[in-house]
Amino acid sequence: MKLLIMGRPGAGKGTQAVNIREYYNIPHISTGDMFRAAIKNQTKLGLEAKSYMDQGALVPDEVTIGIVKQRLLEDDCKKGFLLDGFPRTIAQAEALDAFLNENGIHLDAVLDVNVQAEILVRRMVGRRVCKTCGATYHVEFNAPKKDGICDNCGSALIQRADDTEETAKNRLTVYDNNTAPLLAYYNKQGILKTVNGDQPVEKVFNDIKVVLGE
Ligand code: ADP
Ligand code: ADP
Ligand code: ZN
Repeated sequence: MKLLIMGRPGAGKGTQAVNIREYYNIPHISTGDMFRAAIKNQTKLGLEAKSYMDQGALVPDEVTIGIVKQRLLEDDCKKGFLLDGFPRTIAQAEALDAFLNENGIHLDAVLDVNVQAEILVRRMVGRRVCKTCGATYHVEFNAPKKDGICDNCGSALIQRADDTEETAKNRLTVYDNNTAPLLAYYNKQGILKTVNGDQPVEKVFNDIKVVLGE
C-alpha cells in the first residue's frame, strides 16, 4: 500500500495513521513528527522549522520536499508507506509526483479525512500527546484512563506548542489557502478517497478500510 492521508489540521490524520500503519504494516511518515523530532534534538532543520511551526505557517517547500524524498528512499518504504501531512502545497505535490515517476512508484490512494472546520479548533486545543511513544489523546473526546498519563507507556502527556487557539485558527486558514487545492489535484488523478472524519475513531477507520477495498 502506498498512501497519502490528507485532512484539515486536527481532522484525525495522525490517529488514523497509527491504525493504518499497524493494519497494513507500512511505515508512517509524518512531516510534522519529523520536524518535532528535529526541534527536540535541536538540529539545524529543527531550528529552521520551529519559527514557522510556532506561528502555524508552513515550513518552506525546499526544506520539506528534501526530507521527504530522503525518507522515501529508505529501505522500509519499498513495501509501501503512508505519508501524513505531506504534500501540503501544489509545489510539494508536483515534486512528489516527479519523484514517484522517476522511481516508478504509483500511489494506491489519497485519503481525505473530511471534518468541518468548526469542531477542529476544539480538537486541536484539547489534543495531548505522549512525549515518549507519540500516542495521541483528547481531554474530552479521547481521554486517557489516568489524567495526563499515557495508557500505553505511562509517560507524561504534553500539549503541542502550536495547539493554542490562535495558532490552530491560523493553521486552518493556511490549509484553506495552500492545501485545499490538492483535493482537486488528486481527484483529477482519480485516486482521491474521501471519508467522513466526524465519527468515532473506529468508525472512521472502518470506512478507510472500505474505501481501500477491504
Ligand atoms: P491530525 O493529525 O489530523 O492533526 P490527530 O489525529 O492528532 O489529528 O487528532 C486531533 C485531535 O482530535 C486529537 O486530540 C485526537 O485524539 C482527536 N481525535 C482524532 N480523531 C477523532 C475522532 N474521530 N473523534 C473525536 N476526536 C478525535
Ligand atoms: P496537524 O496534524 O495538526 O495538521 P502536523 O503535525 O501535520 O499538524 O504539522 C504541524 C506543523 O508542521 C505545520 O503547521 C507546519 O508548520 C509544519 N509542517 C508539517 N508538514 C508540513 C509540510 N508538508 N509542509 C510545510 N510545513 C509542514
Ligand atoms: Zn506513551
